Order: sequence, then C-alpha cells, then structure tokens
Amino acid sequence: MHLDKQMTDLKFNVAQLLREEVGARRNYTFSENALPLDDEMILRQLEGKVRFTRTVTGVLADADAQGVVELPCIRCLNPAHQRVSIHFQDEFHSRIEVNTGMPLPKPSEDDPFFIDESHLVDLGEALREYALIELPMQPLCRPDCKGLCPNCGADRNLGECGCVNDETDGRFAVLKNLLNE
Ligand SMILES: [Zn+2]
Ligand SMILES: [Zn+2]
Repeated sequence: MHLDKQMTDLKFNVAQLLREEVGARRNYTFSENALPLDDEMILRQLEGKVRFTRTVTGVLADADAQGVVELPCIRCLNPAHQRVSIHFQDEFHSRIEVNTGMPLPKPSEDDPFFIDESHLVDLGEALREYALIELPMQPLCRPDCKGLCPNCGADRNLGECGCVNDETDGRFAVLKNLLNE
C-alpha cells in the first residue's frame, strides 16, 4: 500500500500496522518545508519516502530523504546551500503490546526510538538526528570560492580588493630591486 502524506509534522500513525503480522508493510512519501535541526540550522525542502515494516517489538523504519541546509561557507562565510541526503534503517519500539495493552520489555539498544501512546511514529526526530550526522564538515558556497582577503577582509569572489600581497611583494620586491641595480 502506498500513501501520500500531507501532514506537516512528520508523524505517522502505525496503529493499524501494529495489529498486522510481523513483516507487514506500509509505504509513505512525505515533504516538509522546514525541519529545525538545532537552534540555528533548518533543513528545508525536505522530501522523502519511508517504509514501515512490522517487527516483533514495533516497526522498522527504512527512510530515504533529501533536503537543503544553509551553512556558512568556510572560506567566505557567506551562506552556502548544501544538499543533505539521509538514509537510515531504525526501529521504533512499542512500549505496550497493541492488542493486550501489556507493557513490553525495554529495548536493549542505547537511546532507542519509541512509538508514542497514540501509536504515532515521530519520523522528524529520527530525520533530525540522521541529518546532523550527514552535514558537510567543510561547506563551500561554490567549489572554487576564493574566500576572504586575509589583509582587508574583502570577499574575493566579488573582485580584486587591490591589496598588495605581502610576502611576495614585500621583501622579495626589495631583493628584486637590488638585483636589478
Ligand atoms: Zn564561499
Ligand atoms: Zn584585501
């Protein structure tokens, strides 16, 4: 079954799926204009798809998504739009058995994701965590960014600042003059 999801909060109700057999599946596509990653960064134009598979203790989410995040360019400090691709498989655990309401044992993994009391899976939280891992370490506004002039701080992408480049033109110029004499 394939469903288009129009909700904007990236929460998926898996109540029906939890009543099905292990191995039962649901596929969804989703999109979200802005998913905050932390206090400053926002993942925008997020689009993706997810498949939920019923497991013994919950559902396995298999997600593929892409978005754009704005980070300062490491050379010129201007905003650099970076594409981020997210792929993950992670289990969301039920705290209670859906048919009997009996509590389930705690999962053994560290920091597991849980399905909430209303049988909602918050995919946004998982996408946020995995997106942070995928952020580029050295974002560039463009591959050939010329950066800032170390002397006057001008953005060299906007043209020459006119600064004389120290080492080569300083002491070496004196030496050159001496040789020419
Ligand atoms: Zn740059
Ligand atoms: Zn300069």
